[in-house]
Amino acid sequence: MSVWPRRSTFAVDVGGVKVGGDHPVVVQSMTNTDTAAAQETVTQIRALAEAGSELVRVTVNHDEAAKAVPEIVARLRGEGVTAPVVGDFHYNGHLLLDRYPDCARALAKYRINPGNVGAKRRDENFQKIVGIAVRNEKPVRIGVNWGSLDQALLTERMDRNAGLARPKGAQEVLRDAMVESAMRSAELAEETGLGSDRIILSAKVSEVPELIAVYRQLAPLSEYPLHLGLTEAGMGAKGIVATTAGLSVLLIEGVGDTIRVSLTPRPGGERTEEVRIAQQILQSLQIRSFEPQVVSCPGCGRTTSTFFQEMAEEIQGHIRAKMPVWRESFPGVEELQVAVMGCVVNGPGESKHANIGISLPGTFEEPKAPVYVDGEHHTTLKGEGLVAEFKEMLDSYVARRYGAGSVSGPPREGIPTSRGSAAR
Ligand code: SF4
Repeated sequence: MSVWPRRSTFAVDVGGVKVGGDHPVVVQSMTNTDTAAAQETVTQIRALAEAGSELVRVTVNHDEAAKAVPEIVARLRGEGVTAPVVGDFHYNGHLLLDRYPDCARALAKYRINPGNVGAKRRDENFQKIVGIAVRNEKPVRIGVNWGSLDQALLTERMDRNAGLARPKGAQEVLRDAMVESAMRSAELAEETGLGSDRIILSAKVSEVPELIAVYRQLAPLSEYPLHLGLTEAGMGAKGIVATTAGLSVLLIEGVGDTIRVSLTPRPGGERTEEVRIAQQILQSLQIRSFEPQVVSCPGCGRTTSTFFQEMAEEIQGHIRAKMPVWRESFPGVEELQVAVMGCVVNGPGESKHANIGISLPGTFEEPKAPVYVDGEHHTTLKGEGLVAEFKEMLDSYVARRYGAGSVSGPPREGIPTSRGSAAR
């Protein structure tokens, strides 16, 4: 359960996954395959879903892609993958959804960018998509993006601003136009017959301060759930840090009901990385728990060997490998905290805060490693078999703590209750 009070919203049912209301913040992602390549797309959706993506969006940009959607969804269901598939439409969504009713039925939600539904017949095309959503009982995400904002609206707002005695800055006018585009489109969607509990909004930009500002402006105006994401976040550390910085501020303020990390993968890199980062953001903010966390220190001059780094990595790998089974057999295990620490300075203290922790000897320290369980010194390990022994202790702790008939004890005295299920 989140420690941050959430903004009040409608709950929107997206193919069985609830977004908003009292439901947990949903992790979603998007494929980068050609949707017309059905099997390739199925394989990637499956990988994203298995990594933890609760909704997966696909591009539906031409006839072949729209034709492939029903087959993709059928193959996924045949393979036991239940993640709802969302269609991303630009320019020709009104044509494709009309031309391919099976595609319209197979998708769990349509994403419409009101800036990309055509200039001359903007409202008509937008309403056509919404009408199809109404007939198929599907929700819609009205996804405004500053890179493709409704140009007519922006020009009108810029002109009006220029005539003011004290004109606003261009950035502020752009923000106003984004919020207005989202809200006007939602109003039009409701006028077309779409229920207010079938609308999700987003207003994505690629700069962190602007993202925070635009969502702060948008959030109080309605009870529609909000999809959060920093668009075009970039690659590697830049993309991860920028997304985390922007989303964290908003999530702490209770804004955001579903998140996507729009990371540019390295060539040949794993698409699933964006799912793990989204989960880690939510888990670091104590909004949701997905997998046990390994707390390890950065190391310093007190520990000159790489042993503890290797051990921390090995324990993390051990947990990842075990999680598919643990998740099924040991409910609540995702809240487990494990500490692997480099020396006596913070090792025992941090290990006591964790459910189970080991404090390795630093340089010049006695070659022994005390293990702490639920805040108490449990045993001391030494010698070559230390890692294997700690793994065994970890496995038996998980079975004991989270297995059938296990009883969580009272909070440990002096231990912050925000850490680990054993302390709750
Ligand atoms: S716990 Fe010890 S080894 Fe790790 S960073 Fe702190 S002082 Fe350095």
